[in-house]
Amino acid sequence: MKVLITREIPRAGIDLLKKHPSLELDIRKGPPLTETELIRAVEEKDAIVSVLPDQINAKVLNAGKSTLKLVANYAVGFDNIDIKTATNLGIYVSNTPGNLTESVAEHALALMISGARNIVQADKYVRAGNYKYWDPMLFLGPVLTKKTLGIIGFGRIGQYLAKIVKRGFDMRILYHDIQRFDKSEQEIGAMYTSIDDLLENSDFISIHVNLMPSTKHLIGERELKKMKPTSYLINTSRGQVINEAALYTALKDGWIEGAGIDVYENEPNIYPGLTELDNVTLTPHIGSATREARVEMARMAVENVIEVLINGKPPKNLIKL
Ligand code: NAD
Repeated sequence: MKVLITREIPRAGIDLLKKHPSLELDIRKGPPLTETELIRAVEEKDAIVSVLPDQINAKVLNAGKSTLKLVANYAVGFDNIDIKTATNLGIYVSNTPGNLTESVAEHALALMISGARNIVQADKYVRAGNYKYWDPMLFLGPVLTKKTLGIIGFGRIGQYLAKIVKRGFDMRILYHDIQRFDKSEQEIGAMYTSIDDLLENSDFISIHVNLMPSTKHLIGERELKKMKPTSYLINTSRGQVINEAALYTALKDGWIEGAGIDVYENEPNIYPGLTELDNVTLTPHIGSATREARVEMARMAVENVIEVLINGKPPKNLIKL
């Protein structure tokens, strides 16, 4: 049976697959495969281990449909896969939930601190040789302790972030979600609220929803204008959740104080002008980029392949429509 691995993943995953001699591996390296390359690569494959830049659309799925049994996405998100077409063709789709929760939450916290304490600008300032003397007014920003953090999307990552900042910074936690999490509200000490109340009353807002038609542009001009002018917006979820043009204007015209952004509306392209602004920290979709998370993701993605191809069962982390 043939397995396509569209990008190099940590060795731990490859080694697990190599324990099964019946699996023939086609491991690609270098930049993401184009649609044409994917269509060609998927032919006669029994499973694909895909990564986020791979657009596993109807054309790709149809090209592989005679043999393909599983698309094992090396990510918790799966908006790069046409789940409906895969399901209709009887192809399983799996993801790697849970094992990157801590890493993404820690990255969101890093972006909060980077914004509040002007870490990127301060670093540039020092490297440019501008640090001549200590200045009482240099790079002032807000303290996090006891401030209010609003979390939009209170799933695994949102709740873990809430726990960290509650314990570490004694922050007040507001959250908005389409579900209530009564037990976590009690355990963490988080308060459920409407999105507008959260926008109006938070000093920091961190977004952790999954990307779906209902969450596309969840944050646009109306929402940004409701935020406090002293507040910071953090996004480690998916770029399309924020209207990036509106975010640019909000940062440029001071509707909000700053932002920390890991994901972009048209990745890897970034809205013109955003990279020129000093009040935003920009990272290249590295929320889960810890060695620990990436090894676990590789193990989990590959275990789904083994479960389907070797054990003849549905993947453990099956995505359902
Ligand atoms: P999760 O499914 O546990 O949590 C998502 C939460 O969003 C759920 O509680 C859901 O009810 C809520 N939600 C859905 N629609 C909503 C809406 N309209 N308003 C408010 N809440 C809504 O997922 P998770 O593991 O916490 O991951 C969240 C997202 O983080 C993933 O879907 C993925 O896109 C993103 N992510 C990014 C990185 C990165 O590298 N930056 C890494 C991993 C995950």
